[in-house]
This record gives sequence, structure tokens and C-alpha cells, in this order.
Amino acid sequence: MCYAIPGRVVEIKGRIAVVDYFGEHRNVLNDFIDLKQGDYVYAQGGIVVEKVSEKYAKQILDYWKDKFFQLKRVDQKISERKGKPNPKLKNIFEKAEKGSILNRSEILELIRMENKNEMETLFKFANGLRQRYLKNASCVHGIIEFSNYCISNCAYCGIRKDNKKLIRYRMDIDEIVQIAEHAVNDLSFKALVLQSGEDPWYTTEKLVEIIKRVRKKCGVLLFMSIGTRSFNCYKKMYEAGARGVLIRFETSNPDLYKNLHINSKSDFNKRLELIKYTKKLGYVVATGFLIGLPGQTEEDLINDVMLTKSLNPDMYSFGPFIPHPETPLSKAKTVDIETVLKVIAVCRLLDPNAKILVTTALETLDKKNGKRLGLLSGANSLMINITPERYKKLYSIYPNRAGIDKSVKENIDETLELLYSLGRAPTDLGI
Ligand code: SAH
Repeated sequence: MCYAIPGRVVEIKGRIAVVDYFGEHRNVLNDFIDLKQGDYVYAQGGIVVEKVSEKYAKQILDYWKDKFFQLKRVDQKISERKGKPNPKLKNIFEKAEKGSILNRSEILELIRMENKNEMETLFKFANGLRQRYLKNASCVHGIIEFSNYCISNCAYCGIRKDNKKLIRYRMDIDEIVQIAEHAVNDLSFKALVLQSGEDPWYTTEKLVEIIKRVRKKCGVLLFMSIGTRSFNCYKKMYEAGARGVLIRFETSNPDLYKNLHINSKSDFNKRLELIKYTKKLGYVVATGFLIGLPGQTEEDLINDVMLTKSLNPDMYSFGPFIPHPETPLSKAKTVDIETVLKVIAVCRLLDPNAKILVTTALETLDKKNGKRLGLLSGANSLMINITPERYKKLYSIYPNRAGIDKSVKENIDETLELLYSLGRAPTDLGI
């Protein structure tokens, strides 16, 4: 896979390096490397992950030179606005265009929209906004699900403690390091998410060891997605070299959160405080919520969007709730894909510079088109599951996950083909 383009450092402003990609400049954070103007680097998620030699960089850039501008033209063409918004929508669009924050009733108007043509106009507008602010830059992260043991009991989640039917697995430290190394050095991923259930077998010391060993061998942005742990654990992981976290607050409604976590140690305030703490520590923070949880109202959904924005996340990560047969919510309804696409578009209108992820759960709602539809409604980031086949099926947070029957290679090839067909390129999105 070749899903990252190196850029040239054109300026250094303290911790920030300005990186040039064929004339486009992005600000990125440099924590790890001694850099000077003229150096070539790979950046991911707004963080410099690796310095590369000029000779190597020029080889890669040579390959990309024409392709980059070709892709840009494709993206521009696809992102041209068509469709005439009605007066109400026009007002909302004008506001978003000027960078004003939409109010609750405007967001509600968008979320409630049912007319197919209007929805299409909204998605196109959101996609156009993405194109204007961030051009065709996109990021692809690899995700490794390293343990499905969990001491939590979230009512929506298939790997909850009380699901006694699930066969549990846990990778040891060597295995995690070896899979991560393969992902970076052989498959060329520059950002990896290490995800698990809330599994205290991985003590802070073990997590630190994993991070240090991976960071020593690979230039990669490491995201930790391990749930609620102590502040100290997140601090130690940061010091060890992790620079990203993925922690959703799941729902902004504390009562709903409580109902969904009966017999569970999960606590809404603790989780929210942790998200804020990780941001303060300097992590790249991906956060968000579940759409369509039983008991979630339209008001809740608006609050979910607003809370995400107020946390000033580096990446929006939200997806549809999909009922799992071995959970108390097995009989719940699955939300329709349009709602998820509308929420993507709303987030883009609220935050034109955002990195918005197309989650696997969205892909699962429409295995053929979900990813494409998400990317055309305002999203610009993707994850590819690189968990080895022998474990992937057991990380069953919800059933029939997209991509589960395909090999890692098939998933990568398919994703790259889709991104190129939409004119997206792997320049970093910056901060
Ligand atoms: N233990 C980690 C990772 C949890 S799994 C943590 O607590 O953050 C990652 C995400 O999967 C969760 O945050 C949740 O939003 C999502 N998820 C869980 N069950 C789901 C379901 N049934 N449908 C869709 N998404 C689900």
C-alpha cells in the first residue's frame, strides 16, 4: 500500500512544522524528531511521524506528481455543487459558508430532513465544503483489535462482560508489536489504532512496553482505544510515545448513559473528564457517539453533535448503533443510513476543518456503498481493519461487520480504489 505522501518542511515555528505538499501547506505538530527546513517528513493526523531521506522522498513524490493533480481534478469535479436549495436551506448553507455556528433549530431542520432531493443537496453542499477547506486530503488508519476481553457491560456492545457465548482472545505483547510492525513496515500504514475491550490484563506497564517497542521500530502515529483507564495510564502512554486516543463518550445524555451501563463500572462523567484530560495532555483526540441508541431523542442527537464539537476533537468518530443478538438491546431497531449521512453533513457544516471518519458501522449499514456515501457527505477519513483473520470475527461488537469476510489485502485494495475514484489523495490533513 502506498497511502501517505511525504512532504517538505518549509518552516518551523516552535513545535509546529509547516509542511508543503505540491504547493499546499499544512501545519503539523513535531514532538519526536529533530527537524530543519528542507527536511522531508511523513505526517499523519497532524503529527510528524517520520523523517525520510530526500532521495527516498523524491522517488515517492515523483510517482505522485502527476497523479496528485489528476486526483485533485477528479475531486473538484465531483465536489461541484449542483441542486438548488430551498430558501431555508439556502440560509443555513450561507451561514455555514461564512463560518457561523448553526443554532439548534437549524441543526434540527437538517436532521429531520426527509425529502430525498433536499438530502442530496445537503450532502453535496457538505462535500463541497470539505473540498474547499481541506482539498482532497484524506487519511487512512489501520486498526488492530488486540483483545476482546472486557470488564464493562455496555448494553449495546457484543463484547460486553455478560456475553458468555463469545470466545475470548487476547494477543500477547510480542504479537501486537509484530502485527503493528508488519502494518507499518510492509503495508505502509502511518497511523494505527490499537483497540481492545476494557481489559486490565494490559497493565499500564504492559501498554507502555507495547507503545515503546512499536515506536522504536516504526514511524507511526499510535492511537490508543482501550476505554476508561486512569489519568495516570493515559499520561504514561503519552510519555511512551502514543499521540492519539479514540474514546467516544457514546451519548451526551447522562441518564441514557446510565441506563445503558447498568451493572457496569462505566461512568459518564469519568469518561468525559478523561476525554478532556487527554486533549489537555496533547493527544490527537478522536471522539463521538452512537447514533440510534434506543431511548435517544432528536434533542440528544443534537447535543451529541454539539458536545463533540465543544470538545474540540481532532477527529469526529460516530456511527450507527447496530443491535447485537447477545445483548439486552438485541431487539432494537437499526437506524437508517440517511440519518448517519445527515449527521456527517451537519458536523461538516459545523466544523468545516474537521477530520470526520467513515466508521465501519456505517459501512456495515450498506456494504456496497456506505463508505462512498460517507465520503461524499462530508467525511474524509477511513479506517481499515488489519486484525488477523483468526481474531477479527471474535471482535464482535456488532454482527456482520463490513469487511469481515475479506482479507486485509482485499480491504486495502478496495479502499484505495474507492479513494482514487473519488479523487482523494493521502496528503496529511494537518492540525
Ligand atoms: N473499550 C474501548 C473500545 C470499545 S469498542 C472503549 O471503551 O472505548 C469501540 C466503539 O464501538 C465503542 O466506543 C462504541 O461506540 C462502538 N460500539 C459498541 N457496540 C456497538 C454496536 N452494537 N453498534 C455500533 N457500534 C458499537
